[in-house]
Amino acid sequence: MKQSQLFSKTKKEAPSDEVAKNAQLLIQGGYIYKNMAGAYSFLPLGLRVIEKINTIIREEMNGIGGQEMHMPSLQDPALWKTSDRWSDENVDVWFKSELKAGGEVGLAWTHEEVITDLMRQYVSSYKDLPFFAYQIQTKFRNEMRAKSGIMRTREFAMKDLYSFCATQEQHDEFYEACAQAYARIFDRIGIGEVTYKTFASGGAFTKFSHEFQTLAEAGEDIVYVDQEKGIAVNEEVLEEADLSELGVTKDDLEKRKSIEVGNIFSLGTKFSEAIGLMYKDEEGNDQPVIMGSYGIGPARAMGTVVDLLSDDKGIVWPESVAPFTVHLIGLNGDDSEIKDWADGIYSALQKRGVETLYDDRDARPGQKFADSDLLGMPYRVVVSKKMKEEGKFEVVARATGDVSYMTEDELYSKFAV
Ligand code: ATP
Ligand code: MG
Repeated sequence: MKQSQLFSKTKKEAPSDEVAKNAQLLIQGGYIYKNMAGAYSFLPLGLRVIEKINTIIREEMNGIGGQEMHMPSLQDPALWKTSDRWSDENVDVWFKSELKAGGEVGLAWTHEEVITDLMRQYVSSYKDLPFFAYQIQTKFRNEMRAKSGIMRTREFAMKDLYSFCATQEQHDEFYEACAQAYARIFDRIGIGEVTYKTFASGGAFTKFSHEFQTLAEAGEDIVYVDQEKGIAVNEEVLEEADLSELGVTKDDLEKRKSIEVGNIFSLGTKFSEAIGLMYKDEEGNDQPVIMGSYGIGPARAMGTVVDLLSDDKGIVWPESVAPFTVHLIGLNGDDSEIKDWADGIYSALQKRGVETLYDDRDARPGQKFADSDLLGMPYRVVVSKKMKEEGKFEVVARATGDVSYMTEDELYSKFAV
């Protein structure tokens, strides 16, 4: 992509009305636009990051047997009354509205009820189970606070997967497979090292549920980490009895701020019983389906990456989620010969499938370098008269600052996909 064509522009200063670092940097870089508190647009650069995160999530969910689908945001109150989750006393994040045709409607803040109801059409026998269905879909939540940039918004995409099993063994097996898939997702997007599988309270059906908490000063949550054992617990699980069950002691736990990037939850038969999702077992008896739900917020994950990996000059994207791998900086000034040469390098990179952002703007070198640091592509490649004469390109790794010099061929072989 040619930077001169990009409608989003970088800003000199971070926006003054944002307190969260992720929003400051992403707005300054032209990745996102704040439409109102708790609602952001993802601009072309930002959308590329989200799409990369979504692709990683999809690969991992498909890898454990997830089937992708898509459910509506508009919600029928009648369904939510069956599980007692329509009233504002029970659920404090609903956005509700009136239908012109009469009656109320809600905007989905989660989808357990919707998918349980839907699956009544498709489940009848134990032979239909287990299966796993997921979506990446918009949720609306009337959150009280929206001060963490894209990490807590009132409209956001969530990957929500639901498991449907006949037996506890089937459920436990999938639950563990999903926990491992989550660990791989957070590894792949670059936050695995500081993301802990965290024991949280489990509700009526299991003792524990699990949150995936990333240690970060910007976090809104608190976890207690045993770094050596690689596990964490949240405040609900700080009882001596729970801790000893997990084989940790209070003295070994370190209190840290964290961001909940995902969670997995055994639902038991809560929704299947309320909504009537039954299957016939081998003896022909009706049984409620055993369910689980598994969420990840792609935008929260993106904000976490920005928050953790940026430095004082700007964002530092891991290659796996960077909008472009290479930031090609044309330093041609008024020299049309060098400009043509730089254009040619860009085309050659394009042809080889290297995702390249090409700064072909008519701007000063200082401005181009500052923007390049702010935008944070993994590799900066400078094309200038000097490079042409020397037959070498200067390649700078954003994360480490390591500089290397490469011939044109070396450049292509390094980045060609
Ligand atoms: P929190 O305690 O932070 O409000 P939650 O327990 O309400 O999170 P879930 O309902 O389990 O979260 O949602 C699954 C995932 O969706 C979370 O782990 C998080 O990554 C993401 N998420 C939740 N709320 C928001 C939000 N308001 N904005 C962006 N992402 C969110
Ligand atoms: Mg919440």
